[in-house]
Amino acid sequence: MSTVELSTSSSGVASAYARVVSRIAEAAREVGRDPASVTLVAVTKTFGGEDILPVLYAGQRVFGENRVQEAQRKWPALLEQFPDIELHLIGPLQSNKARDAVALFDVIQSLDRESLAAELAKAIARADSGRTPRFLVQVNTGLEPQKAGVAPDDTQAFVEMCGQRYGIVADGLMCIPPVEENPVPHFAMLARLAEQLGLRQLSMGMSGDYEQAIAQGATMVRVGSAIFGARE
Ligand SMILES: *Cc1c(COP(=O)(O)O)cnc(C)c1O
Repeated sequence: MSTVELSTSSSGVASAYARVVSRIAEAAREVGRDPASVTLVAVTKTFGGEDILPVLYAGQRVFGENRVQEAQRKWPALLEQFPDIELHLIGPLQSNKARDAVALFDVIQSLDRESLAAELAKAIARADSGRTPRFLVQVNTGLEPQKAGVAPDDTQAFVEMCGQRYGIVADGLMCIPPVEENPVPHFAMLARLAEQLGLRQLSMGMSGDYEQAIAQGATMVRVGSAIFGARE
């Protein structure tokens, strides 16, 4: 397998990455949190190995992709070079891709319906690798009809059903607030829900609002464009 080479814009990406890392630490300290309690998920959708390598060399190991097929094209070569990479699926997952997702991803952040839990359980049972990803339940905090995720009021029943019926145990919750709204009430709602359900992981906050999410208790922030630049 060929190795991926650095592009000339790599120093821009590396310095943007360093800035995000230090802003995350600062945002955590400002609210009395340990910076190590916040995991940066570097979102690499639409970007290739030449953009990803500078942050790998800088020590980043946790990455997010929103499409299974794009991730399958991009990551196997990088995983050969850096076997300790942790990959998160942060986009909608079709049931017929459950098997591929279980084979590639360490964390699936978009669990949002029973049919998907059923397919994931089957995929895990069949996987010869013995791999079991960790799961976050996506919550549609803004009740947006076009957006994936379970309604806040249905989250407890959904989490319990996934565990009891399928052995799919959620580690935490994830949300994507409506773009045109103040995200803070959405982050606060997700944090409250996770606390009520005794779930540890809270995936919330993107390039425009990750510091606010950290103030509300985010344990994972998903940051793409602030590191890699604007997407086409
Ligand atoms: C693309 C994406 C992100 C990153 O968005 P940026 O604004 O580029 O940081 C985070 N979460 C999800 C679910 C995404 O699809």
